Amino acid sequence: AEVLLKVDGLKKYFPITGGIFGKQTGAVKAVDNISFWVNKGETLGLVGESGCGKSTTGRMLMRLIDPTEGQVVFEGKDLVTLSDSEMRKARKDMQMVFQDPFASLNPRHTVEKILEEPLIVHGIGTKKERKQMVREMLEVVGLSSYHAKRYPHQFSGGQRQRIGIARALMTRPKLVIADEPVSALDVSIQSQVLNLLRDLQKEFQLTYIFIAHDLGVVKHISDRVGVMYLGRLVEITEADKLYEKPLHPYTRALLSAVPIPDPDIKSAGELLTGDLPSPSNPPQGCAFHTRCKECMEICKTDRPELRELEPGHFAACHLYS
Ligand code: SF4
Ligand code: MG
Repeated sequence: AEVLLKVDGLKKYFPITGGIFGKQTGAVKAVDNISFWVNKGETLGLVGESGCGKSTTGRMLMRLIDPTEGQVVFEGKDLVTLSDSEMRKARKDMQMVFQDPFASLNPRHTVEKILEEPLIVHGIGTKKERKQMVREMLEVVGLSSYHAKRYPHQFSGGQRQRIGIARALMTRPKLVIADEPVSALDVSIQSQVLNLLRDLQKEFQLTYIFIAHDLGVVKHISDRVGVMYLGRLVEITEADKLYEKPLHPYTRALLSAVPIPDPDIKSAGELLTGDLPSPSNPPQGCAFHTRCKECMEICKTDRPELRELEPGHFAACHLYS
């Protein structure tokens, strides 16, 4: 498979300041040295509890947040080294869909104006052509062209997410980063939006990074899945392998928390216990050791690196060293 995006050693440290002089006293390692790639045309699911750094990762890929360190190579170009104006151009090929469609749509603009904006930004089409493209895209996402003159508040949550998706697709991007695109929607609406995303992927040959907080949501849409914990990638592999034979104890715990556990998963019933430690003060050694049933002495002192344990199957855990 052809690699579309390659992330190498990506970090985002937010400084913690304290005292009357506001001196830096530490750093929240929101994303702490993660590396992965995304193949052209696939969906990579990126999963973890809140605060694991998955959204920060998504935003860094778009350079909505600048990384502290690392490379984001998209079609052979390191986006981290681009100037702001070069990056603005690059965003034509990579777009984002957000969790809360309402918050991400300007309430004072008609749908037509919202969808036309990315075309104007990237200098695509004449006014007449743009209006036509907006109407066509509304149909593509399952709305109607007569919706063009309406405002975001006149739509349901599911319809608003369709508008958010339409906006992301206006520039015909190659990569779409969807950050919990269905988390705010009713369960009955979630599958409609997931099906839409899958249909659009085929129609427009899209590559997706699909961010979610539970493994259930990404199961049917992902080709590969990466699991994050406290700023690090702890396991990544093909979706089939991850659901059938998870290697990392955290992945197993997450799977046991999926509402309808798969009877084939040996560890089903092993629940995720204990509180998520603060990302500003993560445990020494393996960050998961405070919640891990398999914890050994070495886990409390030595941080396990992500290693390829089987072809294409990477995990960071001392159980396998
Ligand atoms: Fe558990 Fe140790 Fe593996 Fe961490 S390294 S997940 S504590 S067994
Ligand atoms: Mg988030």
